[in-house]
Amino acid sequence: MQITESVSAPAKCWSCGEEVADGQPFCGSCGKVQPPRQADYFGMFGLPPKLNLDVPALEKLFYRYSRKLHPDVHARASLQEQEWSLAQASLLNDAYRTLKSPLDRTKYLLRLEGVQRPAVFRQTILEARDARTQVEESLKVIQSRAK
Ligand SMILES: [Zn+2]
Repeated sequence: MQITESVSAPAKCWSCGEEVADGQPFCGSCGKVQPPRQADYFGMFGLPPKLNLDVPALEKLFYRYSRKLHPDVHARASLQEQEWSLAQASLLNDAYRTLKSPLDRTKYLLRLEGVQRPAVFRQTILEARDARTQVEESLKVIQSRAK
């Protein structure tokens, strides 16, 4: 039987061996870029997964991380590190675009809900269910009129 590493296991920095917070593009100890890991967009920025996100803080982090991931910064790093920083930069762009839009952020939170179910998502889920019920009610009305 093959034993695979759990996704939730804390990552260790490939360079200094210190633990790296889930999804963080850099090591908090030595600052080296990390290989991209399966993590949620909030985790990449070290922000709590919630609908009412601190958008100015998100922007600040995005620009700080983007500068650190810029190819020029890694021009003298190993080829592997350059590849990782490119991959991280592209992930970071996706994460930023998704989280700064209130609509995309809501959709993303609902998608996360399929994986984990903390209390913070409950309100969002309930609201989405209400909206779906309303759509279903409207559809029934339309269908009954069509008959
Ligand atoms: Zn390190």
